[in-house]
Amino acid sequence: MIDYENLRKANESFFDEYRKSFNVLLNSGWFILGNAVKNFEQEFAAFNASKYCIGVANGLDALILCLRALNLEKGSEVIVPSNTYIATILSILQCDLIPVLVEPDIRTYNIDPRKIEEAITPKTCAIMVVHLYGKSCEMDTIFAIAQKQNLSLIEDCAQSHGAKHKGKLTGTFGYGAFSFYPTKNLGCLGDGGAVTTDDESFANKIRMLRNYGSEKKYYNEVVGYNSRLDELQAGFLSVKLKHLHEITQHKQKLAQLYHAGLKSDFIKPVADSDYVDVFHIYNVRHRKRDELKEYLLKNEIKTEVHYPVPPHKQKAMAGVLMKQQYPISEEIHATTLSLPISYCHSENDVRRVIEVMNKF
Ligand SMILES: *Cc1c(COP(=O)(O)O)cnc(C)c1O
Repeated sequence: MIDYENLRKANESFFDEYRKSFNVLLNSGWFILGNAVKNFEQEFAAFNASKYCIGVANGLDALILCLRALNLEKGSEVIVPSNTYIATILSILQCDLIPVLVEPDIRTYNIDPRKIEEAITPKTCAIMVVHLYGKSCEMDTIFAIAQKQNLSLIEDCAQSHGAKHKGKLTGTFGYGAFSFYPTKNLGCLGDGGAVTTDDESFANKIRMLRNYGSEKKYYNEVVGYNSRLDELQAGFLSVKLKHLHEITQHKQKLAQLYHAGLKSDFIKPVADSDYVDVFHIYNVRHRKRDELKEYLLKNEIKTEVHYPVPPHKQKAMAGVLMKQQYPISEEIHATTLSLPISYCHSENDVRRVIEVMNKF
């Protein structure tokens, strides 16, 4: 059986380093906001070519704290892709702001910059882009729109650690919000997240918000949260970060095999030299997606669908989102299939998937 993901196998080669890191923590006796978080923040800031990195509890909180730190007027509108994972939209709702869903480009699955411009109203305060599947959005165009219209720009980088557009990393155009959920390219062994920025006062606000709105212990400046990255996860993340390049390269190699080997019946991700993709997910589209998934399972290959239900069709969004049609998003949700592309998969695993798929 070829798993879609196997987190034990994907982490196995780091076990010794994880154990060492755990022992260091145990002996230190300091479990919250200590040296491990400080060190990881510095390392991740350097990795992402950002001046500041602030560790937080998870990716959803990273998005929420970015919106909070911007002090946006309640009821104002935030532009967000219609085909994102629900967390992006939840962050907007949790801050009493209004998500305005904008359709993606069917070729890249990322938000269409031309449709962003059409969606801007006098109430728009921010654009929240999502670099879906590990491909950067068209950030030069989107950055220019945000500048011209004086809108805040937040990047949901939960799937895009290390991805680039025209040589520039995701999370460096606007405020970067990262998740370190175990399955992400840089995943820890529990929950974790971070915000990246070059703006010192924004960084200070996030740092306060994650820790009860306090800079100095027992003195509270703003109404904050408890959303800290913990020492244990930060230690594991420092271990993993040293290997992230290797993990990314492995995924890129597997993606290359799929790209070259899969027959053209399958709609494959577009390759464009302006982009460095990190393949959090490798998806294909096919009009008989469900049949294909079933066929692969019969041949002992597990796949996933990201995502089966578009946000505007989720029960939780009934009466919350403005009723509108999102045909491109629906088309993607109905036809997309994610293939095995983890650090735990070998090139032979992928060759086997290709062989079986090409007989479909
Ligand atoms: C995983 C993910 C999140 C949420 O991250 P958590 O750490 O699980 O809170 C947000 N947005 C996208 C696009 C994601 O893939």
